[in-house]
Amino acid sequence: MKPEEIISKGIGTRAVHAGQQPDPVTGAVMTPVYQTSTYAQASPGEHKGYEYGRVSNPTRTALEGNLAGLESAKHGICFSSGVAATDAIARCLRPGDHIVASNDLYGGTYRLFRQVFGPFGITSDFVDMSDLDKVEQAIRPETKLLWVETPTNPLVRVVDIDTLVSLGHTHNATVAVDNTFATPILQRPLERGADLVVHSTTKYLGGHSDVIGGAVCTNSDEWAEKLRFLIKSAGAVPGPMDCFLTMRGTKTLDVRMERHCRNAQAVAEFLEADPRVGKVYYPGLPSFEGHELAARQMDGFGGIVSFLLKDESIEAAYRVLSATQVFTLAESLGGVESLMNHPATMTHASIPAKERHAAGLHDSLIRLSVGIESTEDLIADLDMALASV
Ligand SMILES: *Cc1c(COP(=O)(O)O)cnc(C)c1O
Repeated sequence: MKPEEIISKGIGTRAVHAGQQPDPVTGAVMTPVYQTSTYAQASPGEHKGYEYGRVSNPTRTALEGNLAGLESAKHGICFSSGVAATDAIARCLRPGDHIVASNDLYGGTYRLFRQVFGPFGITSDFVDMSDLDKVEQAIRPETKLLWVETPTNPLVRVVDIDTLVSLGHTHNATVAVDNTFATPILQRPLERGADLVVHSTTKYLGGHSDVIGGAVCTNSDEWAEKLRFLIKSAGAVPGPMDCFLTMRGTKTLDVRMERHCRNAQAVAEFLEADPRVGKVYYPGLPSFEGHELAARQMDGFGGIVSFLLKDESIEAAYRVLSATQVFTLAESLGGVESLMNHPATMTHASIPAKERHAAGLHDSLIRLSVGIESTEDLIADLDMALASV
């Protein structure tokens, strides 16, 4: 299939075919792992589009085409990790520039903006993006970047991409959406006018908890040029084997997301009905605040469920976190296996307690990344763990 034909196809077809061509030399159906650092030239400057492995690699090119196809983007640019992708975007700002970001977001993004870019004179404010007045109040003339995460991490708040895009553009700010939680199967922010989509491909896109990677997708030639310049000049590139593994993951993304969503819905409904559980955070529950917006903005409610026990002590949360057998206690999310995480001490420990509490992140919150195992086993595991409270 020609690259220009792919964009008109369904998302499941794009997942399998976008960016993929049989190998021109051998006809290999799967893109090989081009494990090479350099490329032969017939005479100086006479080459087949590849000169040096930091700048580009055919396995990476195939993954970039695949991700661009999934996000309805003109360009996909791959990085060695999700934070490297975020870092490259922030490097395009200048001292004096200002970032407005969601206050309920990936802890590493907070750490990067505050602790790495802060000392270079790039300031950042973190606000509840479901409250548009707060976003508008935080925007200043120097605000150059709106950093949106939806659903947020770990409270799975849903924020309105359309409104934030128009707000950002009114103030001449670039709007970037971290689409790691939703994946392009459930939500495609570029189709809603966002300038940049960022991924930690480590999560659902890779999908098997065996590779670290990141990507930016965009329709802007100017942004693509800036980011490719940074790839060449600063070098946060993924290796060919990492690209191969990620692409092996993206081919099954559509079917995996279907099961993640179905299992997460069942788990959320089980927890909501259980008397030992206090609050359940999942956009697929009609009782959840962001449910209607999620139903409008997304093609499914995702695989992340967070909850608080009725007994809100840390000790009770720790007992549940230590008792499960199918759910593994570990950082990260989006793999085929179910994981559970304690944000306050694990993924979100780099956000000061005061800011965590202000954002509504309770110290006893438990976050689940619901995998694709048999639904009844996941529910039985949680039921058993809740008995330890
Ligand atoms: C994990 C994650 C990141 C960072 O990605 P890495 O691949 O771990 O560097 C960024 N945003 C979100 C939402 C994440 O979950």
